[in-house]
Amino acid sequence: MSGQVQQRRVNKQSHLLITSTLVFQLKGVIINNDLQILHETQVQFDADLPEFRTHGGVVSTEDGHTITAPTLLWVKALDLLLDQLKLAGADYTNIAAISGTAQQHGSVYWQRGAQHTLQFLEASKFLHEQLVRSFSTPNSPVWMDSSTTEQCRQLERAVGGAQKLAEITGSTAYERFTASQIAKLSQTKPSVYNNTESETSTGTGSQRISLVSSFACSLFLGRYADIDYSDGSGMNLLDIHSKEWSQICLDATAPNLIDKLGTPVASSSIQGPISQYFVERFDFNPDCKVASFTGDNPASLIGMCLTEGTIAVSLGTSDTLFLWLRRPQTLLEGHILCNPVDKEAYMALLWSVADNPRLNTVSQSHMRATWPYCVAGNPRLNTVIHEGYMALLWSVADNPRLNTVIHEGYMALLWSVADNPRLNTVSQPHMRVTWPYCGHFKNGSLTRERVRDDCTEGSWELFNELLDSTPRGNFGNMGLYFDVQEIIPFVKGDHRFNKANDRVQRFTSMEVEVRALVEGQFLAKRAHAEDLGFNIEAGSRIIATGGASNNKSILQVLSDVFNAPVYVLEAANSAMLGSAYQAKHALVAEHTSFSEMTSCLSPPVLACQPYKDAAQVIITIARYPLCTTRWWGAIVGSSSLSSTRSRHDFPPATPA
Ligand code: ADP
Repeated sequence: MSGQVQQRRVNKQSHLLITSTLVFQLKGVIINNDLQILHETQVQFDADLPEFRTHGGVVSTEDGHTITAPTLLWVKALDLLLDQLKLAGADYTNIAAISGTAQQHGSVYWQRGAQHTLQFLEASKFLHEQLVRSFSTPNSPVWMDSSTTEQCRQLERAVGGAQKLAEITGSTAYERFTASQIAKLSQTKPSVYNNTESETSTGTGSQRISLVSSFACSLFLGRYADIDYSDGSGMNLLDIHSKEWSQICLDATAPNLIDKLGTPVASSSIQGPISQYFVERFDFNPDCKVASFTGDNPASLIGMCLTEGTIAVSLGTSDTLFLWLRRPQTLLEGHILCNPVDKEAYMALLWSVADNPRLNTVSQSHMRATWPYCVAGNPRLNTVIHEGYMALLWSVADNPRLNTVIHEGYMALLWSVADNPRLNTVSQPHMRVTWPYCGHFKNGSLTRERVRDDCTEGSWELFNELLDSTPRGNFGNMGLYFDVQEIIPFVKGDHRFNKANDRVQRFTSMEVEVRALVEGQFLAKRAHAEDLGFNIEAGSRIIATGGASNNKSILQVLSDVFNAPVYVLEAANSAMLGSAYQAKHALVAEHTSFSEMTSCLSPPVLACQPYKDAAQVIITIARYPLCTTRWWGAIVGSSSLSSTRSRHDFPPATPA
């Protein structure tokens, strides 16, 4: 007994509560200071809250394009979750910080007066009872929505094209991204969107727009939480370079939008103390901190502790490829995000002038009121370029925000090394300019399941036997299987090619079919990674996560196709884990770096090594890219990936 008391004292105030608002369910875990799980529970939306009549956590229109979730469902789920955790023995007095992750892109529309309701919640009542009138539209658009194609094109046109939008926000316009969803609401239901000065405090109109992550954070905070940089990168509204809302994107989306979004903040920031409601109702400690919540993709990036040279492949319902890019490329497919771990990552070339005598001479005179900046974006700066190797300067007075990062005696430089090879030598040791990239492949596990069902009546064991019984390279046969419209490349249907590169209707055996599917899926990912400039080299490695990362036969193909070892993480849920690191990092960020904080964690476990002939096999099937993205480009008369986003058909198949 006394041992237990002591244990409680030791752990006092050291636990973290993490929530995860997914499509089907809300998950909650409490973890201790060593990031071990103490309590875990979930609320299944369809089964536990049937009154909302959701199917798979969402409500769809008949045409299947407009897909939303009832906002109050998520609130009620949180009521249930906190009660369930308490019943399971959780002691909320020990929670030092709360963080969370949520499905990306979805948006919540708070009604005028909602902030007041949030601030003065009555502890004796459920959240959902009190927030029932807090949303200007009862249904939140979610990432599965595809009803905003028109708004996407409008946005791209208004900013000067898809490429321009990608340069600013990291992505071209996507239907599921928040900007087009907000634009649709503003155009089709202006009274819901508008919040004009003339309205009375009881009028309708959304006063604040949250992402699902910042919405969930707001509930704990008792006021509107700010959107974090990384989840904000999934909106088509955030300038990922300045980390401020892009005025041109705001203007192109909806009127007075900046007033409804708040100020974007670093993903590892503390947003404030927990609201009084939770202190009184659940006995949370009033000192408990609420960290920024973020999207599931950035959280996964954090959870996997990705380093440069590592690719992460999440083999979940859909497949996702994560990697770090050295340069914030302008991509017409996939997404560049703000770094969720290191808030200064893109301006990470900070060093003492004293460390680098070459800089001394040029910098002295500019030291106190100058800020070096990339000249490419600002021709005005050319005038002060000195010898072309540094001194891309402008006055801090132009940008007071920058003041905060300039320390006396320090020189801060932001530039792209690749733009100027002469800079390489001075900047290399300090180089930490990396950009998280994430690309989705819709036809992941569900397509593997379909082929499994067709070939083996639903058995993964038999599927693996078939896979293992065919040689790497599949006798030159190759397949591309897209049950639903793929994003990268923009195609649909099953497409099979024989050794001579002719299309065939079917393969001669199920073994060939199964291997063609799995090799084809991973070749698509490798081709895409290489198109982004990621080189698979000696030290490269893959981290696999998600449901199919339990399947060794599939991982072996992944390893062979990338000719790199594949590792798996011991902890299954990388997004949840990422949120936990983030909450902890937010608490200790002042004196501990992220890598120091996570150094105690067990490293990923080696699952597979590539076979010796893997590289040779890849050469044999390296014609793959010709058959996918680049080939598409050739068909439609352009070599760029952008052409893959227009619909087109493969040439007709010949019988096997
Ligand atoms: P989510 O993406 O929803 O988080 P998971 O990461 O749990 O889902 O992945 C679920 C998918 O994992 C399922 O669609 C299933 O097909 C796949 N899966 C589970 N076990 C295996 C297995 N042994 N082999 C291949 N795929 C598997």
